[in-house]
Amino acid sequence: MTKQWNGSDFRLGMLGGGQLGRMFIQEALNYDVHVHCMDPDKDAPCRNIASSFTVGSLTDYDQVMAFGKDKDILTVEIENVNVKALYDLEQQGVHVFPQPSVLEIVQDKGLQKQFYADGGIPTAPFRLVESGKQLLDESPTFPFVLKLRKGGYDGKGVMIIRSKDDLETAFDGPCVVEEMVPFTKELSVIVARNSNGETAVYPTVECEFSPTANLVEFLFSPADVSTEIEKAATHLAIDVIDRLGMVGLLAVELFLTASGELLVNEIAPRPHNSGHHTIECAITSQFEQHMRSILNAPLGRTELISPGVMINLLGEPGHEGPASYEGLHEVMQLKGVKVHLYGKQYTKPFRKMGHVTIFGDILETVKITGRNVIKTLKVIS
Ligand code: ADP
Repeated sequence: MTKQWNGSDFRLGMLGGGQLGRMFIQEALNYDVHVHCMDPDKDAPCRNIASSFTVGSLTDYDQVMAFGKDKDILTVEIENVNVKALYDLEQQGVHVFPQPSVLEIVQDKGLQKQFYADGGIPTAPFRLVESGKQLLDESPTFPFVLKLRKGGYDGKGVMIIRSKDDLETAFDGPCVVEEMVPFTKELSVIVARNSNGETAVYPTVECEFSPTANLVEFLFSPADVSTEIEKAATHLAIDVIDRLGMVGLLAVELFLTASGELLVNEIAPRPHNSGHHTIECAITSQFEQHMRSILNAPLGRTELISPGVMINLLGEPGHEGPASYEGLHEVMQLKGVKVHLYGKQYTKPFRKMGHVTIFGDILETVKITGRNVIKTLKVIS
């Protein structure tokens, strides 16, 4: 019989020991919840703060089974884990949240799109192909988006195909072929659901793109959208998590079109980059909310205490080696600036090394400070 959470002998296992796990543990400690981690990297960010740290492969059946079997609850901070082992652990009485059935859908962009289509959840029109290369023999209409069904992350595994030439380098594996959406904004909504079926949704987050590089510069919340769109985004997120029957925290990434339509791009069943600002800016952080939801505790309030901007602190291009932080003291002097370093000793170009949250009463002022932080704080070696 699996134990209920009511004290410190309760064992919560987490597959993955990266920065999301690290911030999760920081919050779990406040409730005296002991988190045991497994990660393939012996130097992963959770190594020094987990109650125990196991080096092991998250995709290996035997290693996931061995790690999970003595846990009361098992959760993940990354989707790419051995789902077969999670189904078997569930059979043995371990509570696995998010459920293996949800992870199975999320690991495959093809199944994800089919889930949206079957549930009437708005998403960009698509079809599935055995290989991106097969499109060379067809006469597709350009442009379109090609996505590897499995294994892509952070934009790797996504190609915008604008011409027949682009097809030459198309992925050689099962793909989703998706209509290109002329979106006006990219939004994200984080929703939590516990085993009682209660849900709680955070205010929508918006991506701000750099006008010069067309790269995401930072995320901010509340999003600059109408009340109707905010409400529609909230309902959509609840609809998705209810249809999944999922227990845990879910990030729902959305496209907003010029006509005010919201389309689901993809989902992530775990704490998410677009929720980091909740540590300082919301009554309950996304990490605490994840913990509350998987323990079937009451969900926390999600209102923002203050508007916020979140900036990813990425390894500077051209720098690889032991990390050091240029401009740290300067940004620490700025009002409403909180720096989070993930404890990664080694920097590489564009590696996620930390993030910075900036908060204050007026979003426009917070954004100005944010741009100042981007210019000042660098991860170099
Ligand atoms: P990943 O899983 O690697 O994060 P996404 O599916 O989120 O990949 O795609 C990465 C980015 O590519 C999105 O944030 C968006 O900017 C762009 N993108 C993805 N799908 C489309 C689409 N159908 N139309 C236009 N842009 C898209």
